[in-house]
Amino acid sequence: MSADCLFCKIVEGKIPAKRIFEDELSLCFADINPQAPTHLLIIPKVHIASTAQAEQEHAPLLGHMVAKAAELARGAGLDGGYRIVINTGVDGGQTVDHLHLHLLGGRHMTWPPG
Ligand code: 5GP
Ligand code: ZN
Repeated sequence: MSADCLFCKIVEGKIPAKRIFEDELSLCFADINPQAPTHLLIIPKVHIASTAQAEQEHAPLLGHMVAKAAELARGAGLDGGYRIVINTGVDGGQTVDHLHLHLLGGRHMTWPPG
């Protein structure tokens, strides 16, 4: 855990969130400022600042999170598709420095992203 990290505080229950799912490795909660009808965040319970800090040892955890996102997307009925996004660093538009996967769906997505 990182003392000053918002998402670590959500993991610990010190800051409330609309928790959708959790297991020993990961937590899923609703984004506070949704950009699509479905906008969930999936985070590792351990503090990893971003994919810039990801190592091979994190591969099972990251794979688990992607598989969970797919499960949650099926549960949310996103049968027409959806988008999984991981913003990384300043240029990537990351604003919370705890690695997180956005699951966005329920509307048509455009490309390229902004
Ligand atoms: P990033 O820009 O780092 O990829 O995404 C951070 C996301 O976290 C944003 O979509 C933002 O709306 C969401 N967020 C920021 N603070 C909170 C919070 O306190 N609670 C929840 N549920 N989401 C948050
Ligand atoms: Zn953290």
